[in-house]
Amino acid sequence: MAKILSGKEMSEQLIQEQAVRVAQLHEQGIFPGLAVVLVGEDPASQIYVRNKGIACEKIGIHSQTIRMAEDCSQEELLDTIQKLNNDPKISGILVQLPLPKHLNEEEVLSTILPEKDVDGFHLMNVGKLSTGQTGVVPCTPKGVLYMLKQAGIDLKGKEAVIIGRSNIVGKPAATLLLNEHCTVTICHSRTQNLAEHTRRADILVAAIGKPNFVTADMVKPGAVVIDVGINRLDGKVVGDVAYEDVEKVAGWITPVPGGVGKMTISMLMENTLEAACAQAR
Ligand code: NAD
Repeated sequence: MAKILSGKEMSEQLIQEQAVRVAQLHEQGIFPGLAVVLVGEDPASQIYVRNKGIACEKIGIHSQTIRMAEDCSQEELLDTIQKLNNDPKISGILVQLPLPKHLNEEEVLSTILPEKDVDGFHLMNVGKLSTGQTGVVPCTPKGVLYMLKQAGIDLKGKEAVIIGRSNIVGKPAATLLLNEHCTVTICHSRTQNLAEHTRRADILVAAIGKPNFVTADMVKPGAVVIDVGINRLDGKVVGDVAYEDVEKVAGWITPVPGGVGKMTISMLMENTLEAACAQAR
């Protein structure tokens, strides 16, 4: 039976540590603040934004949610971001994705000051990550790496296989694992003989968005299985991994819920604290 990599436990520990750090920063006159911009009424986005606000409250950082109408213009959105760029109370800015179709996401993301880009999606931060320089690392893959390290899993020279090549999860996760000296394979919707790749993995990361996609026969016995997926199936939240079957062959596994999702929010808090410190310097 696989050991559980619990994002819930790790994030609860982190919340306590971060609350202490925030109190120390306040004593030094540094007041971290996070602004979340939400365009439209997407129900899933509303839940994510609410959870981010709750996390800020728990560790004692100032947070602000800016709600904009579904049909707001590109200019209005860019103007809002510029104001937040210039606001000294705000150390981190996050624009909740996806945006409505009429808005230009690339332009929006590149308008956020790179030092306030706590999602790590600005091209400057993407470039820094891929060239191994210190920049802001996207929250979900940063959380994945944190979990692996926290569990004491040795990454050097290991075969890592990532299913999914999105800019927010798959690609940055691959880069992070490469920087940790894994041998990395990225699989995607056009990959042929997927299971042949996944069965080689010592570390298997699933970021697909398809419920129960990764089955036990795709997993090497003893592998570390990281399930990034968040899907709704018959009213329940499930991951991309068929948990009940895969836990019988894997060495480690992350549950959904209570796995990577919790860490994503913790890493957002981490990025906000780091941004506040960097701006104070
Ligand atoms: P995406 O839709 O942008 O990317 C999905 C990837 O899966 C694509 O690269 C695609 O090539 C690949 N894919 C699709 N079908 C496939 C197939 N049959 N075989 C192999 N690969 C296939 O999604 P995303 O934004 O990367 O998110 C992936 C999942 O992770 C979603 O369920 C999302 O909700 C979840 N997610 C979770 C968190 C978190 O905090 N836990 C954060 C972001 C995303």
